[in-house]
Amino acid sequence: MNDLQCMIQGCQAKVYSPAGTQHVCKEHFLSFLTWRRRKGAQMFVHYAGLSMDQRDPIAAEWSKTVSTVEAPSTTASKP
Ligand SMILES: [Zn+2]
Repeated sequence: MNDLQCMIQGCQAKVYSPAGTQHVCKEHFLSFLTWRRRKGAQMFVHYAGLSMDQRDPIAAEWSKTVSTVEAPSTTASKP
């Protein structure tokens, strides 16, 4: 059993990478990466130098910009 879950609410994709003390799936990891890039090189370097719990507020800020609408429907379970 895997208790790790993407930090984006409603996303049920498999986790791929840590984002602070939480985790994100591959799709959201890439989204987070893009978001940080858009913030500029300084943010990118700044984030890289932070400890895990220092990254949390940044990950939280990003997560607010994420729409979960694009998340694939995973309600259908295998027969
Ligand atoms: Zn996700």
